[in-house]
Amino acid sequence: MIQLYIPLNFLGVIYREIKQSLADMERLFALLDENREVADKPGAQPLATHGARVAFSHVDFSYEAKRQILFDVDFTIPAGTTTAVVGHSGSGKSTLSRLLFRFYDVQQGAISIDGQDVRAVTQESLRDAIGIVPQDTVLFNDTIEYNIAYGRPGAGIDEVVAAARVASIHDFIESLPDGYKTVVGERGLKLSGGEKQRVAIARTLLKNPAILVFDEATSALDSKAEQAIQAQLKEIAKNRTTLVIAHRLSTVADAQQILVLDHGRIVERGTHQALLAANGLYAQMWERQQARKDEELASPSLELEQ
Ligand code: ADP
Ligand code: MG
Repeated sequence: MIQLYIPLNFLGVIYREIKQSLADMERLFALLDENREVADKPGAQPLATHGARVAFSHVDFSYEAKRQILFDVDFTIPAGTTTAVVGHSGSGKSTLSRLLFRFYDVQQGAISIDGQDVRAVTQESLRDAIGIVPQDTVLFNDTIEYNIAYGRPGAGIDEVVAAARVASIHDFIESLPDGYKTVVGERGLKLSGGEKQRVAIARTLLKNPAILVFDEATSALDSKAEQAIQAQLKEIAKNRTTLVIAHRLSTVADAQQILVLDHGRIVERGTHQALLAANGLYAQMWERQQARKDEELASPSLELEQ
């Protein structure tokens, strides 16, 4: 009995280890390869970007036949500018970024980058051109150096450090006993939400994509940490075509264009000032969030999330 018990227990440990790394792999595949049905067209050419103007033209989309998610979504992000998308949870914001990345194909209309339909170019080149700073960054059970260098395989330590400096995480990394060789992730040092996001920013800086997508949901962060990250994001978004999916409106006020998505339709668009003047859904959301901010100032423990 005892003899049997020990090996089984030992196997149990190994099994948990394997399961854990499988869980990591699954998360990675979920991120990189969400839908294997999307395939390169025979003879697909690599995407050629010059400035990276993004256009959604009259896009209809549903994940399942019975339930349409996006309705006639039509907008352009001029090369090198920032467009923000706001709207209630479930309105279809993250779906826009999944479609741009071509995790799914649209049912009607088209998405193009510098005039090239995303369905006509190779997926590899498309994904090389887009850097996503996601809601929840996946860290590999590996060193911080590896986790940042993943943005551009083959990058040297000097480049990793430079990216970490811009993302304001270099000093933190240096303060760790093993520095850049510190193992992070589920089985290593657990980083906070803000630290993970900075790693993601450094990774994206290293990747240096023509198009940047930032799906905020910084619900794990307090507003002070969020503000610090916003400042860095502004820095990397400079002169880069950027799509910001925003949950807190304070983070989008200086975008060149703001789209208000409601139940899968763009119901308002314009600059922050124009949308406030229009006194519609955006103005309502803004007022509500300002009121919450005042509450938060009065009692700092209150969270700002909607
Ligand atoms: P948002 O980012 O604005 O909160 P999403 O774009 O994530 O919204 O989702 C829009 C709608 O699509 C939601 O109703 C959501 O439940 C649905 N949805 C999201 N992903 C899937 C999926 N993989 N399969 C089916 N429905 C989905
Ligand atoms: Mg979302």
